[in-house]
Amino acid sequence: MKCFRHHERDAVGVCRSCYKGLCPDCAVEVDKSLACRNSCEEDVRAVNLLIAENIKITPIASKILHRRENIVKGANIFNVTFGGIFILIGLADPSRFLILIFLGAFLLIYGIYSHVQRQRNEQNAKR
Ligand SMILES: [Zn+2]
Ligand SMILES: [Zn+2]
Repeated sequence: MKCFRHHERDAVGVCRSCYKGLCPDCAVEVDKSLACRNSCEEDVRAVNLLIAENIKITPIASKILHRRENIVKGANIFNVTFGGIFILIGLADPSRFLILIFLGAFLLIYGIYSHVQRQRNEQNAKR
């Protein structure tokens, strides 16, 4: 590869921001990576900062995702439990609480459905 600005010169690397070839005169080192002198230095610094932030954030993000998993699990248990309770109340007095039977059945089915869905996702993730 040749330098983007000096076509007769060999490039020593590419700019991290615009990916153009750079000769030693055009390249400037920014945080262990190369940038175009006087044009991409700031961009590369920003890109590097972003990457560094991402590396820092990754463990936190996975922790949040894990917590979300537990909330979903809790919601499923909640749905199934209350679904069952609603159905029982509804069955005790169907003339007054018929709506509760429907509501309970809905919660129960939804809870079981999302539980099955979640387990399927978990198995896919393991594979
Ligand atoms: Zn550049
Ligand atoms: Zn050059």
